[in-house]
Amino acid sequence: MKQIDQWVRPNIRQLKPYSSARNEFSGEASVWLDANESPFNAPYNRYPDPLQTTLKNRLARQRGVRPDQIFLGVGSDEAIDLLYRIFCEPGKNNAVSIVPTYGMYKVCADINGVEYREVPLHDDFSLDVEALEAAVDSDSRLLFLCSPNNPTGNAFPAGEIERLITAFDGIVVVDEAYIDFSSHPSWLRRLDEFPNLVVLQTFSKAWGSAGVRLGMAFASPSVIGYYNKVKYPYNISAPVQRYALDLLDREGEVRSWVDEILTVRALFIERLEELPVVVKIYPTDANFVLVRMDNAPAIYEWLVAEGIVVRNRSSVALCGNCLRITVGAAGEMDILMEALRRYSQSVKL
Ligand code: PMP
Repeated sequence: MKQIDQWVRPNIRQLKPYSSARNEFSGEASVWLDANESPFNAPYNRYPDPLQTTLKNRLARQRGVRPDQIFLGVGSDEAIDLLYRIFCEPGKNNAVSIVPTYGMYKVCADINGVEYREVPLHDDFSLDVEALEAAVDSDSRLLFLCSPNNPTGNAFPAGEIERLITAFDGIVVVDEAYIDFSSHPSWLRRLDEFPNLVVLQTFSKAWGSAGVRLGMAFASPSVIGYYNKVKYPYNISAPVQRYALDLLDREGEVRSWVDEILTVRALFIERLEELPVVVKIYPTDANFVLVRMDNAPAIYEWLVAEGIVVRNRSSVALCGNCLRITVGAAGEMDILMEALRRYSQSVKL
């Protein structure tokens, strides 16, 4: 049995967290004089619920987990950063991940003074499980696996992820930011089996809410307890909590957005295949497509000149000459395709 406490930094294990007014009293009252708030400008005058109880109860029902298995952060980026602060002693512990992958795992390691070990994917973007296992040592505390992976778009086989969760003596983070676009099932179904598993999800992608900054970490109550200990007391604002509750009531609408994006994605891929400047379209489980092109930097510049911004990933490991293109609205993809056709024409002449 994996014991979470043994991997926690001693200062965090011993930490006496800040106790806010709303931690100490959370019942019903008619006169609130405990938090030095203003009596004016309701409802914004009041501090939000520090543990977001109503929202977590609603989310727990929707995702089939328990409220004590949820941490809510200012984007999943907050959930990533806090994992370093909970588990990694600067200059001593290390984190292991794949490359290419989402950039914030490394940035947060660098901010926290934690060694970050990058294990390249195979050329077809599959996991090198043996190399990951070889990169781990007794000071490794975090292993990041982004699935579906950004920027490659592919999801990793469950059997390989399970092998790593079982073998690793530390926290395995499966970042599922793009899971709603994937045919692979979420690891949330298996949360109870693995006390060292942290699943990240976000409202920023399928849920259409990147602007509100709301991310989720799902994990064993022990890990969530440490998250709650180190987070800022009122990290999720009251308007964001209310907004998310309303959005969860619109789940059907969100599903229809995802369906639409998947339809547009399929059509976009078909049309891309016809373009002579396209060298390879990588399979995708996400709301973006990684495309290897003939001279991606030139195409990137051409698109920018047309007012179209995609992500040039040419300088990223294994992604030479690749553009990462988000699947937008059908009309936006029409505009992009038109510009790409014009570029193809221009290089042919
Ligand atoms: N994980 C992955 C894989 C991402 O691609 C992103 C955003 N691009 C994030 C996490 C961060 O999401 P959030 O907006 O919730 O901070």
